[in-house]
Amino acid sequence: MVSIWAAIRGAFTALPLREAIGHIAGGAWGLTKALWSSPDKELGAERMNTCRTECPFFNKEYETCGTPGKMEPDSTVHQEGCWCYLPLVVGYKKKTCYARNRGLSIGWKR
Ligand code: SF4
Repeated sequence: MVSIWAAIRGAFTALPLREAIGHIAGGAWGLTKALWSSPDKELGAERMNTCRTECPFFNKEYETCGTPGKMEPDSTVHQEGCWCYLPLVVGYKKKTCYARNRGLSIGWKR
């Protein structure tokens, strides 16, 4: 729960107000949809293991993808990581990996 608040605070400190509100609204909508479906525990455990053991973006303190509020180097537009609280989302098939989305060869493939 602390991580969710950290993500919200990070979004408001790192992004312009309008983008931060959009980011938070998108996250709330995603969370609402996720709560209506059930996660795949095996898939979630496999992905979580990859995050924890192989990915430099994983924030061990908050268990988030990247650090909420932290932007990519030399960018004020692109956040580094999706800032999601991973234990809550990795079991959902539609969730994608930030690193793979950025074309990197790290992160989970499925
Ligand atoms: S980039 Fe992918 S593997 Fe890395 S922490 Fe984020 S979701 Fe996990």
